[in-house]
Amino acid sequence: MTTAGAATGERFGDLFEAAFSRVREAAGRIGTHPDVLTVLEHPKETLATNLLLRRDDGSLASCQAWRCRYSDVLGPTKGGVRFHPQSNEREVIALALWMTCKCAVVDIPYGGAKGAVRVDPRDLSETELQRLSHAWVHAFASMIGPERDIPAPDVATNARTMAWMADEYGRMIGRQEPAVITGKPLALGGIPGRGEATGKGGFIVLDALAQRLDLKPSETRVMIYGFGNVGRSMAQFLEEAGYRIVGAGDSSGAVTSQKGLTVDELDKAKRAHGSVSALERDGVRRLRSASSLISGDCDLLVLAALQNEIHEGNAGKVKARAIIELANGPITPEGDEILHRRGVHVVPDILANAGGVTVSYFEWLQNRERQAWTWQRVDETLKRIMRDAARRVGDTALELDVPLRQAAYAVALRRLEAAIMATAPVPSNGDSPHARPPAVSRGG
Ligand code: NAD
Repeated sequence: MTTAGAATGERFGDLFEAAFSRVREAAGRIGTHPDVLTVLEHPKETLATNLLLRRDDGSLASCQAWRCRYSDVLGPTKGGVRFHPQSNEREVIALALWMTCKCAVVDIPYGGAKGAVRVDPRDLSETELQRLSHAWVHAFASMIGPERDIPAPDVATNARTMAWMADEYGRMIGRQEPAVITGKPLALGGIPGRGEATGKGGFIVLDALAQRLDLKPSETRVMIYGFGNVGRSMAQFLEEAGYRIVGAGDSSGAVTSQKGLTVDELDKAKRAHGSVSALERDGVRRLRSASSLISGDCDLLVLAALQNEIHEGNAGKVKARAIIELANGPITPEGDEILHRRGVHVVPDILANAGGVTVSYFEWLQNRERQAWTWQRVDETLKRIMRDAARRVGDTALELDVPLRQAAYAVALRRLEAAIMATAPVPSNGDSPHARPPAVSRGG
């Protein structure tokens, strides 16, 4: 067990710095108590280790792995585990900070966490992936637990990975403990609707803010950047509501058609050839790289791939009037600034993609209560929570006269401030750290 070390360099600078700059900016705007920033500027604990993986050919590989519990001030920490060849510690810490803010925006009693293994999962067989998942649980067993830290799927991990992890945890403690991990298969205590929850949550938020964003479904052309789990389910909800999908892409390329693409034909191309870019028919244009969608001719751009997709080099080329961030951190602060100057509305990640963690919370509740939630209960409760969060953020944007991103961070900070100041160490001169009352109580 080693403590986390130096940051890995990134093309767009330090991801954590970029993430924290948003917190600092919002804190300046609403006058957050300095103690709160002192608490929030550093993660509670980060563990870095190396996992040993016996390959199928008998050789031994070593993979860097991390878990960061950023803040548990609002409850047990919660966050996904990703398998990705470029994962690094600063990315994990940034993602854990975003999880902290995300849970606070939707007002669920969780802190934020994240985990990763630096590995290319496409290089691993099923048995190797299973051994790696077991190894991850062994390495981080002292950090996780149903009342302490609860992992979930993220990029390149899924319900099957969570089943392996939950099973291994159960073996270690001598009994099954489903509430230790969410995003499990239904047969192991998973919850109906988890697979589509992030896309559905994004759609509910978009629908709640449509008037403010001046989007009418029948007049709105949409491009989906990242037609994976989240992008695909968002596309499905948009299609059902009457939006026209005019572009979709993934890591192998993209397709566009101003007359419209159906989710069904995109699915078929992806199933048959591994990429939506394989779709071939009259009126469909194929693009070698999905990055062309960033400057594509559309009204709404859905970002559902990875971080740093829009930056100072391409933000000026965006034609969409509105963007919804379903990926975490897909726009750099510099890109954001340019979009804001150009009047492009951005629905921020910490609000837009919170549907996944919200339904994970329902899964955790049902596991602890030994109950099974119905799909209807999940659907209704998700709608209520996401609409309330969208309304809180929309109202705060009006109150402070700021873009939605700053408003979302202001909502999160007010919630975190109330909890942090309630327990802050009292100064030795006896002055109460509560000299100024917390800005807003729970639910505000
Ligand atoms: P996924 O792996 O199912 O889908 C990602 C998609 O993005 C794939 O289609 C992939 O081909 C595409 N992609 C990757 N790199 C690309 C590139 N450079 N250019 C174009 N396309 C590229 O993952 P997912 O679960 O859909 O997650 C997508 C994003 O949403 C991630 O950033 C994730 O952190 C975020 N997110 C996911 C959830 C969830 O519940 N799954 C919740 C919150 C946030």
